[in-house]
This record gives sequence, C-alpha cells and structure tokens, in this order.
Amino acid sequence: MAINVKSGLENYSDEPRFHFDIYAILEGGQELYFGHETQVNVNIVETVTIPLSTNGVGTEEDDGLEKCYLSPTKRRGVERRTLIWAPKGNELLGDAWNCGIPHTCSKAECPICRVFGGLITSAIEVEGESDKRPATTLIGRLTHSGGVAIQELGPEEKQRAMHPSMIRKPPESDPTPTPFKREYNQPGLLYPVYNHCLSMTDSEFSAVAYAFMSALARLGAGNPKGVKIYEAPLVREDKEEPWIVVDRYLVPLGKRPIISPAIKDVNKAKKQFKEAAFTIAGERQSNGWQLVEGNFHRYVGDTAIAKLSECLTKFEEEVLNNVDAATDN
Ligand SMILES: [Zn+2]
Repeated sequence: MAINVKSGLENYSDEPRFHFDIYAILEGGQELYFGHETQVNVNIVETVTIPLSTNGVGTEEDDGLEKCYLSPTKRRGVERRTLIWAPKGNELLGDAWNCGIPHTCSKAECPICRVFGGLITSAIEVEGESDKRPATTLIGRLTHSGGVAIQELGPEEKQRAMHPSMIRKPPESDPTPTPFKREYNQPGLLYPVYNHCLSMTDSEFSAVAYAFMSALARLGAGNPKGVKIYEAPLVREDKEEPWIVVDRYLVPLGKRPIISPAIKDVNKAKKQFKEAAFTIAGERQSNGWQLVEGNFHRYVGDTAIAKLSECLTKFEEEVLNNVDAATDN
C-alpha cells in the first residue's frame, strides 16, 4: 500500500498561504485577576519567577524577579470563546457549527477548529447529530506566547465582601456580609503578548484577528475584566498610537519585537520592542508604518490596526454574515 505523505489539511479556497504574527503590548486599565494555575479557589493570582543570575542580568545572590503573568493558555481560551460566542444570525457561531469547549467539532471547514485545532479521542455520539463524530486530530496553526508583565510589581491583596441584598436586617438574622481576600494584578501593568500563525490564508487569519481583538475586552477571571493595547509614541515622537505589529510573510525576515522577561524597566522594554519592530533582514530601517522587503510585510501601530480591521470586515462578511445587523431596525 502506498504511504501517505500529505499533511491532511483540506483546502477550501485558492487563496495563497502566508505566515502571520501579531506582537502587541497590552495594558491593564484596572486591576485584574487571573487565577493561579495550581491554586483553585484560593484567590491567588498567577505569577512567574525570572531567574536573573542565569541570564546575565543579576548576580548569584539575586533570588530572581517575581512578576505577574497573563498566561498564553488563558488568553487562548478567552480567544476561542469569543469565536464560539460570536454572533451569527440569531444564534452563536459555536452553536451554528455545534462546536464548543471541551467538545470541539474538529471539522476542517469549521472556522474555529480550522485555526485553533480540535481533538476527538474516540468516535462519539453528539446530541442532534445522526452520525457519530469520528476520532479526529486537527492540529491548530495558531500559537500564543508572551504574557510576562514588564514591571516588577507583585500582586496586591484586597479585602472584598459579598454583601447580601437585604436592605433592612432584623438584629437576630443572618446572613452578614461574607468577607474574603483576593489578590489582583495591579492597574497599569504592561503585558507583551504574541500570536503566531502557520501557513494561513487571509480568510483563516481573519478568525485570528477577530479572536485577538474581541478577547481584549474579556480577559480576566471574574470581574473586572479587560485590557487595551498600550498607547504611546511609536513610529513618530509626536503621535500616540497602539503598540502593535502585524507581520504577513513567507520567510521570517523581520526581527521579532519580543521583550525579554528579565527587563523590568518600561523605557528599556519599549526601546527593545521598537528597535526590533524597525529591523528587517538584520538592518535597522527608518521608522515607518509599513515596512516591506520582498514578500515580507510589516504593519506598525495605527497601520497594524487598519490591517487587522480589514481582516475583521472579511471575517464578518465570510463567517458571521449577520444580515439582520445591517439594518437599523
Ligand atoms: Zn469546530
């Protein structure tokens, strides 16, 4: 029998494929809570420790830096949910495809599974479907990274209380407010984050753009939620704009604007991001909103947002196709 050498990825269009990257610095507009991975229900936020002596920043005596962390796995989960819960006609996109978490549809034509991946370990019966879903492995082509805060600012513990809704309380009655303590990531922390996409069409990347932009308002466990893309002068000294870079390319010519987690000084971190953002094929270019070298395209700041917005419109047209929303009434 002949062997199979193919990847197994079905094509649904003639669009060419590219790699796409998103590099951004996110800012917490208020305190945020991201539960610690191993500490369930104890209200402790997730932190990471950066060993300084091993990477030449500190000395042997340094214990390392403890930093708040917006982990890539959490971001990935929120992004996937924004797609599952995206509006489609009078239903949600995940319902339209019968695709959820943890039970993904794992169909190659599903706009969510196609980029995020899916797994069905053994054939399984699904409510409302006549045929069993076959065991399927669909490898995601979108990966998430970064998330270590720039500033060395540990979590802050806050006293909270759950107040019952009683207006008048007779002296003999319970309940009384239930106090509890919870840690929070402090407002103003900056989190450099990165999304990488492998061999995608513009249509496939449009789902990634939608997930990335929609998740910003929804990051965080419980309340409050939400981050924004950090704004400061980037391309020009006199113009504030979002710190984001979007790449579309065949070969990775651009220096990747990734901030070393060992850096705790915001200005130093910004300098590192900026130097990389304007370096293509090993050469520092002059600052610009769009840098092109052959098939390599880099969009910076406002231009990156414009590029992502194009993708959002494409996603709306091709996937959400929300005809009702086009009318005012
Ligand atoms: Zn799916």
